[in-house]
Amino acid sequence: MGKAARKKIDRPHEFQAEVAKLLQLMVHSVYSDRDVFLRELISNGADALDKLRYEAIKKPKLLADTPLLSIVIAPDKKAKTLAIADSGIGMSEDELIDNLGTIAKSGTQAFVEKAGQGLNLIGQFGVGFYSAFIVANRVEVVSRKAGSDEAFMWASDGAGTFTVKPAKKATRGTIITLHLKDDASEFLDGRKIERVVCAYSDHIGHPIMLADGKEDPTQINTANAIWTRAKADVTPEQHKEFFGHISGAYADPALTIHYRAEGRHEYTVLLYIPAERPLDLYDPERKGRQKLYVKRVYIADDAHLLPAYLRFVRGIIDSEDMPLNLSREMLQNNPQVAAIRKAVTNKVLNELKKCARNDPENFAKIWEVFGPVIKEGLYEDMAHRDQLFEVAKFRTTKSAAVLLKDYVAGLKENQTAIYYLAGEDALKASASPQLEGYKARDIEVLLLTDPVDSFWVRTAMGFDGKPFKSVTQGAADLDLIPLKDAPEKNDEADGVTAKLIVAMKEALGVQVKDVRNSKRLTDSAVCLVADGDLDRTLEKLLSRQQDSGVRVSAPVLEINADHPLIIALSRVADSGGRSISLADAAQLLLDQAQVLEGEPVTDPTGFAQRMSRVMTKALM
Ligand code: ADP
Ligand code: MG
Repeated sequence: MGKAARKKIDRPHEFQAEVAKLLQLMVHSVYSDRDVFLRELISNGADALDKLRYEAIKKPKLLADTPLLSIVIAPDKKAKTLAIADSGIGMSEDELIDNLGTIAKSGTQAFVEKAGQGLNLIGQFGVGFYSAFIVANRVEVVSRKAGSDEAFMWASDGAGTFTVKPAKKATRGTIITLHLKDDASEFLDGRKIERVVCAYSDHIGHPIMLADGKEDPTQINTANAIWTRAKADVTPEQHKEFFGHISGAYADPALTIHYRAEGRHEYTVLLYIPAERPLDLYDPERKGRQKLYVKRVYIADDAHLLPAYLRFVRGIIDSEDMPLNLSREMLQNNPQVAAIRKAVTNKVLNELKKCARNDPENFAKIWEVFGPVIKEGLYEDMAHRDQLFEVAKFRTTKSAAVLLKDYVAGLKENQTAIYYLAGEDALKASASPQLEGYKARDIEVLLLTDPVDSFWVRTAMGFDGKPFKSVTQGAADLDLIPLKDAPEKNDEADGVTAKLIVAMKEALGVQVKDVRNSKRLTDSAVCLVADGDLDRTLEKLLSRQQDSGVRVSAPVLEINADHPLIIALSRVADSGGRSISLADAAQLLLDQAQVLEGEPVTDPTGFAQRMSRVMTKALM
């Protein structure tokens, strides 16, 4: 919008479709926790004051008409209105139209769909302003942008359209006037307002004044930034309130990290790990993860203070020694920001590790929600990989989520590697024939089924001195680990199948790299394994990516010398018997191994013909 809209100043503007839908929800809501609208409007006022303070560093003149930065709440019992005024940055005509007529953020559609289930997601989606319609049937916004002498009034009754007209306002900032619904008159009561402000907005770093006409306006919040207080002086309720302010969540955070760093750089950190998954966790445009302040002045909310795989961490970092006039563009390559990021990343990972150790139940919940995101760090951030291995949990053949530390503690005697199987589906993977020998020895195997797993596992050196080893790769080195209950395999088995192996190799030619006796099979007759440096699944995954340069190489076909079919075929091979064509059998076994991996058979026609021949023979 903008220029074209500007010419038609008298015609009502239509709300963006999503906004209209959202407004309908608000207007008709029977929302029990209606107080939130006040938190949202105060929060917007505080943001506007923060923005002004930042701009005024370069242009002190902006502060001239009203030096005081504050929010004033004024109920009017006679008119049944509630006004919320701030002396912040204000909005121009275009900004009124754009900011209060559309929802800029992506993922809005998803929100509107979910909002039908309840409004407690409001704050997360930057739709805070529209919550005014929970209690008001008409909303007027008069705003004057700092540095301009024009003012405009935005007005709407929440039903599809809004108007924007020139207006009069003596000083910079914004006044929002709510014409309260009949059932919302409780918000005309000063004590009620005070209670709500105390509950939700006490920490706002600007004074919030109540002007209820009786006496001089009184300040109703503490107005000191929560992070500047000593750690022990902040109560869990205050953390919940502040966490709610910056994240839009209504729950307690799962983890709170509050400390002051001293030394080369001085800064205060107050970060929270949410307990619930934000809807836009995978939105690439997601911003506002951690806010940067310098000496209590808000600077930016996308200063890259933590790596992307910690994007769910919310909070602030307040530097004591960065220059205030640092432009947002300069933050990108600022060495001090880089140093802070490194230190704070370490701190967050250490706190996660502590939590995993001391409060496993809480950690399990955090991991369930954010684990797949944290795991992105395993390939994005080599420098912290070892620390990430300390907190990463994996699904295994024995457990839904296990720490590597606990996996290693449960190693079998003589087990020297951390075994894994990569796959796209845990259920399918756990039924793989390649796992049989491991199960028979009660060896736990990691099931790596997240897409990110295929990237880090190729280059990972190992954990606690134990390398990662795929169960579908190379010869299985299981000889030294005893079977759980079955007797040890007969060594003569090797001799039994020698002739069969020769015959199969000849029949299969270049389709396989080798045919050999398996140590990993106990139930199935055959399976495929990789001989190169890549796991089979990874090889397949990577070969699908065009520029990876990886091609699927010929596999090794392993056969189970204890399997009745292999024993019988061995006899045929030894006796030179002709009851079945060994070439057909070899090809069918290879097809079978492929099917077991979820792959189609290479030559369906040939497969059908061979199958028919073998069945006919069996029936004759
Ligand atoms: P959010 O605060 O998450 O961006 P809101 O719906 O609460 O979403 O507000 C939408 C936008 O309207 C804000 O981003 C801001 O640009 C503008 N806005 C709202 N209230 C004010 C205000 N009091 N002063 C200046 N701008 C405001
Ligand atoms: Mg807001």
